[in-house]
Amino acid sequence: MSHKILVLAGDGIGPEIVAEAMKVLAVLRAEGVDIEIEQALVGGAAYDATGTPLPEETLRLARAADAVLLGAVGGPKWESLKIALRPEKGLLGLRSELGLFANLRPALLYPELASASSLKPEVVAGLDLMIVRELTGGIYFGQPRGIRTRNDGQREGFNTLVYSEAEIQRIARVAFDIAMKRGRRVCSVDKANVLECTELWREVVSVVARDYPQVSLTHMYVDNAAMQLVRAPKQFDVIVTTNMFGDILSDEAAMLTGSIGMLPSASLDAAHKGMYEPIHGSAPDIAGKGVANPLGTILSVAMLLRYTLGKPDLALRVERAVQAVLAQGLRTADIFADGCSRVGTAQMGAAVVAALRG
Ligand code: NAD
Repeated sequence: MSHKILVLAGDGIGPEIVAEAMKVLAVLRAEGVDIEIEQALVGGAAYDATGTPLPEETLRLARAADAVLLGAVGGPKWESLKIALRPEKGLLGLRSELGLFANLRPALLYPELASASSLKPEVVAGLDLMIVRELTGGIYFGQPRGIRTRNDGQREGFNTLVYSEAEIQRIARVAFDIAMKRGRRVCSVDKANVLECTELWREVVSVVARDYPQVSLTHMYVDNAAMQLVRAPKQFDVIVTTNMFGDILSDEAAMLTGSIGMLPSASLDAAHKGMYEPIHGSAPDIAGKGVANPLGTILSVAMLLRYTLGKPDLALRVERAVQAVLAQGLRTADIFADGCSRVGTAQMGAAVVAALRG
């Protein structure tokens, strides 16, 4: 069966890093993996060409694709536009139009890069955890919301934290399914001692867990989870949590690795269709210089192979190729350390391709 992948390079370093990821896809295609690739515009590039950050044609192609591979969007050029026309709207529009409710953010620290972390190498070396964040519900979307004036003349801001049982069940299932392919441990993070909504979260996650007897489930309050992530992050395998808690904890976990250019992410729907992208932005400060780290995007391809195409063996090969180039001592500027060889974006991509072929 042919798999359709829509590639959206976006803005800034997007086209540079996506070009390297496409070389990896080309190697797999040449080996007979049935992939069809289309390209389209999103973000500032789409705004410049069509007047909107998410053109109808891009949305149509994204709906028809099995997976979307995205570089990054945004940049100073478009910051003065009104919010509805800003590049980031293209991204948010894609996530909501495609119903991508599960955000997967691995935090993996290759032993070769342990010194890049601000934590002691022995605390983080070999870190490999996955945060599964609910992406389309919770307090970021709950109604009612707003700013109103009270009878005493004081203004007050208010938001609503709301999750239905169905929303909790589906994100819990994603987390347990992933845990089955990893270390078979799920830690559900909530604030059940204070928030009724997450009291229900805890209850529903516990019920879903009965369908996964091989997976061990623990619960942790979010304040403790934030602490444990910097104290002993290797205790975690899969963390599942709400939209807002996941937003914060996933950035904290990413920073444990110390290298924003290395980290991939996925956003999935119920049928495992997904959008895959590095966690970093368009890095306007280094765009066009050929120095951006393409490994986060290449590792996003590995996630695409694992979660949408159902090809864990190919995913592992791509991940091993990345590890091999790090073991050879090749480093882009963002992860450079004494004694290593500094390479640019294209050289890094070429080295991964060579390792993949080898
Ligand atoms: P950023 O992630 O683009 O950059 C932060 C720092 O990390 C910069 O110094 C940058 O040079 C460096 N960096 C990022 N990716 C790198 C890579 N692959 N290799 C080497 N260094 C890398 O964040 P920012 O500067 O806050 O935002 C820049 C623009 O990107 C803004 O317009 C923002 O809205 C947008 N943005 C987009 C996304 C996305 O597309 N998903 C995410 C975050 C920010």
